[in-house]
Amino acid sequence: MLNHPLLTEIATRSDALISLTQDLIRIPTLNPPGRDYRRICSYLAERLGKRGFKVEMIRAEGTPGDCTAYPRWNVIARHEGKSAGDCVHFNSHHDVVEVGHGWTKDPFGGALEDGRIYGRGACDMKGGLAASIIAAEVFVDLYPDHKGAVEISATADEESGGYGGVAYLAEQGYFDPERVQHVIIPEPLNKDRICLGHRGVWWAEIETKGRIAHGSMPFLGDSAIRHMGAVLEEMERHLFPLLATKRTDMPVVPEGARQSTLNINSIHGGEPEHDPDFTGFPAACVADRCRIVIDRRFLIEEDITEVKAEVHRMLERIKDERPDFEYEVTDMHEVIPSMTDKDAPVVKSTAAAIEKVLGAQPSYVVSPGTYDQKHIDRIGRLKNCIAYGPGILDLAHQPDEWVGVDDMIDSAGVMALVLAELLL
Ligand SMILES: [Zn+2]
Repeated sequence: MLNHPLLTEIATRSDALISLTQDLIRIPTLNPPGRDYRRICSYLAERLGKRGFKVEMIRAEGTPGDCTAYPRWNVIARHEGKSAGDCVHFNSHHDVVEVGHGWTKDPFGGALEDGRIYGRGACDMKGGLAASIIAAEVFVDLYPDHKGAVEISATADEESGGYGGVAYLAEQGYFDPERVQHVIIPEPLNKDRICLGHRGVWWAEIETKGRIAHGSMPFLGDSAIRHMGAVLEEMERHLFPLLATKRTDMPVVPEGARQSTLNINSIHGGEPEHDPDFTGFPAACVADRCRIVIDRRFLIEEDITEVKAEVHRMLERIKDERPDFEYEVTDMHEVIPSMTDKDAPVVKSTAAAIEKVLGAQPSYVVSPGTYDQKHIDRIGRLKNCIAYGPGILDLAHQPDEWVGVDDMIDSAGVMALVLAELLL
């Protein structure tokens, strides 16, 4: 490993890195509903304020879920250098997902065992947040006269779309290219990989319509469930095989996601089988409504208009062949694919830093899902953005989630060297 004052100093602060990570895990910022957002932002504001960062707390008022009980708080800390230059911004989400079952550790205990820190959010992504804070603190301590600016943000609601977090901040101009030039999102992508972006998303509800009748005389009604059966059959026969032929040049991991995919998230038809207050049999009825929610992930080579048209054409085809087939498609959510150029400055600086710290070339990946880069790209119009951080991607959202202390130290070293390259 390279001998550099930044790396030496980060190694001596490993205890500080561990206790910071533990403190962050012990604030249970569960989303939903959005617990303790203010607490975690205040904690970070106090810490970074003491170290010469100018701190802003921003509540994303009026965004989904924002209310008196669960306000959507965000924090941005900025360290101004002594001369003009670029701004390098580290953005982490501070929310964590539901604990779920199967834990053998306290999910909010932050236990340190054999070089691993355990807890909900350890990997996704409080370990990355802590690593970026230590990297920035060490950098400004050693080089207080740096150029440009260093920014750290901890933002809300990434796990539920980022509308009360990065999307809101981008709308307020915090990610305008005149203000911020380089963004690193320390999501858990493994410390030797640079994530350039993500595939696109289209969520929609498809509803088929029927006519209610007595279940003993189904011929007097029209079953919305049977109509939906025709939709599913058409998907099996034609749509899924078609999607499998659409391959991308994006380096998506895992390999199975290097094509277009479609998931049927849910299906609901007919009367509810279970009413919590009623234990008898349901009534005999023909279903007059059936709904599915589809989650279509698409590639940078695909156009979202065509992605939607493909489904509409399929439904029209069924309508031509099937008597009384009526349907409705409702758009729910969409994200355009994003991929930063491999020659972008933040990519090159991070690649060079990884080589120095780990002694090996990084690999370049694209995420099968999405993360906050979408808002930085689309709303902020900033293209020089990647995800890079410690933590093993597969552990995210799992029971007994952990982050390795050595991985955090290595990736903090990478982040500090990126600052040195861009701001000295
Ligand atoms: Zn995450």
